[in-house]
Amino acid sequence: MSKILILPGDGIGTEIVAQAVKVIDSLNSNNSMGMTLVDGLIGGIAYDETGTPLPEETIKIAKECDSILLGAVGGPKWEPLERALRPERGLLGIRSELELFSNLRPAILYPQLANASSLKTEIVSGLDLMIVRELVGGIYFGEPRGVETKDGERFGINSATYYESEIARIGHSAFQIAQKRGRRVCSVDKANVLEVCELWREVMEEVSKDYPDVSLSHMYVDNAAMQLVRDPKQFDVMVTSNLFGDVLSDCAAMLTGSIGMLPSASLDKNNFGMYEPIHGSAPDISGKDIANPLATILSVSMMLRYSLNQGELADKINSAVSKVLDKGYRTKDIAFDGDKVVGTNQMGDLVVAELET
Ligand code: NAD
Repeated sequence: MSKILILPGDGIGTEIVAQAVKVIDSLNSNNSMGMTLVDGLIGGIAYDETGTPLPEETIKIAKECDSILLGAVGGPKWEPLERALRPERGLLGIRSELELFSNLRPAILYPQLANASSLKTEIVSGLDLMIVRELVGGIYFGEPRGVETKDGERFGINSATYYESEIARIGHSAFQIAQKRGRRVCSVDKANVLEVCELWREVMEEVSKDYPDVSLSHMYVDNAAMQLVRDPKQFDVMVTSNLFGDVLSDCAAMLTGSIGMLPSASLDKNNFGMYEPIHGSAPDISGKDIANPLATILSVSMMLRYSLNQGELADKINSAVSKVLDKGYRTKDIAFDGDKVVGTNQMGDLVVAELET
């Protein structure tokens, strides 16, 4: 029996999470999964109801659960708030509070959607790479930070810092994921300029000794950005720091042509995880029943694989999504001439119907 915290959040969050919940309900009814769902608050809605984007109650419930499914947070309504109260702070807060240091961002291109990519079909068709991004350290959290006055002018400062233990744990995460995939890790850094990256490279070499079945290569981040668009299929698992991973994972996501198709996971050292689509709350399409729910449904698949040890059920969801695409059903964001355009709700129903056949 697994307990899942459901955090729909803001904007399209509620619409897409509702479709993922249908999938979980179907797995419960037909595969005796016994997943219990508990609702919680995060983001703008949490601020509206409790005065903070991350209520303590949410953290408390999260710690009693086996994993978390999140929709998205944010929207123009909350932009005027001071930084500490903005919905996005709720997201950063829960990641760091639960020590979700390992962010898995797969970039998978379904062959049915190869024409959605801006790159040539032969370069991206069949793409399946995993970016493992360190999520709770590095320059996003390093001290000192801030804007001060120095020598009579404003002076901004952030600090790129890593302890060797922080590098080692994300390294282990990447090597263990590579063992379940193509057994190749490419560590991305800027060791030619930054001392913190020299340490990163050294520690990755040390960690690699525990995984003789996995090969390790190193690449500078500027080259990695070029290689991602030149020949993305050369990569199996890329592991990198918080800042570089933020940029490279969005670049990799775009290789697939649709932000609405990509799930993600953020894991702690025991594989407790928070699962969410990579996109935001899409206020421009919220409430219109046109958002693509597949990234959120595929987040449930990742949850089953990485936190709940149910790889076969994960495969079942992936295969149901693939069959729906085979039949030509598309939400608006991934539709081309001749496709059958369906809404958010209907897409959820179609995936459930495939799961149950
Ligand atoms: P966004 O990802 O919400 O939207 C970017 C574009 O992609 C929009 O045109 C949107 O309509 C489209 N899109 C996104 N998801 C889609 C889906 N499932 N189906 C179809 N189209 C989809 O990014 P944004 O517009 O820069 O940000 C909107 C809000 O979301 C902001 O408040 C931002 O801070 C927040 N945000 C939250 C997260 C998160 O919760 N993890 C991530 C990114 C942005």
